Amino acid sequence: MRLAAFMKTSNFQVVPLSSDVADAARRAAANAAPDHAVITADSPTGFPCRHCLHWAQPAERVILFPYAAIPPGHPYSETGPIFVHAEPCQRYRASREYPAEFRKGRAFRAYNANYNMIDAEIVNGSEPEAVIEKLLENPDTAFVHARSVTRGCYTFAIERI
Ligand SMILES: [Zn+2]
Repeated sequence: MRLAAFMKTSNFQVVPLSSDVADAARRAAANAAPDHAVITADSPTGFPCRHCLHWAQPAERVILFPYAAIPPGHPYSETGPIFVHAEPCQRYRASREYPAEFRKGRAFRAYNANYNMIDAEIVNGSEPEAVIEKLLENPDTAFVHARSVTRGCYTFAIERI
């Protein structure tokens, strides 16, 4: 079932990585910070940029660095590797639309307001919007994180509007 009409009235927005974090990563890489690696993409679907929410294309350079998707000070605090384009890119703007390039291969984790993970689902034959809406049906869900279903890396956040 296509949910195009449903999407228009969705109660969530996609929140990409902030431009401040992306710019800080670029500065750190320029200063040769040891935990910021500059890598040249060699696959069309291996290097997702968390700022523009597009896959980096082969020969594009990306920065690989650790990001605290769940901030320190909580039982579920978590820092993990993410990519951003090494060159400045446009932050994802269509915030009420699910990013087209990540319709497959994502897992969704629901967290409550205390940053505790309370549910999780993978997109398994359904539309990602339907999975997100289901997680948001729980009034305790404060936000949802999309992650790679294979490598587990944080991709973007989803918040209630
Ligand atoms: Zn980008």
